[in-house]
Amino acid sequence: MTRIRPSEAPTQPPKRRREFPASVKRAAYERSRGRCEACDVGGLAFNAMQYDHVLADGLGGEPTLENCEALCGPCHQAKTSTRDVPMIAKAIRTGKKWRGEKVSRNPMPGSRRSGWKKGFDGKVTKR
Ligand SMILES: [Zn+2]
Repeated sequence: MTRIRPSEAPTQPPKRRREFPASVKRAAYERSRGRCEACDVGGLAFNAMQYDHVLADGLGGEPTLENCEALCGPCHQAKTSTRDVPMIAKAIRTGKKWRGEKVSRNPMPGSRRSGWKKGFDGKVTKR
């Protein structure tokens, strides 16, 4: 699995999707020989095939042949909903946390952010 460094994580989904050019789709179709590259179901026509970004477009995946896989509809749907969408959501979430744009709503008890402090006599007071 490809990992995204928090410093490189997107702050929000990209404005424009970068779809595969027709030449890349044709090359991917020829590589697959009409079979889904995930479940191996055969006999798919060029237009019935779906062309998936291996590393999602929203995570900076390039629209190149190396990043393209020819999938059937159900496999594409499954990969998008179980891998790509959660991964993009996590990249945005961890990116915000890493840059300090989001702080925890549940600070560590006794930490400075909790608003309480404990003196040497053991008394707990509000900061
Ligand atoms: Zn499939």
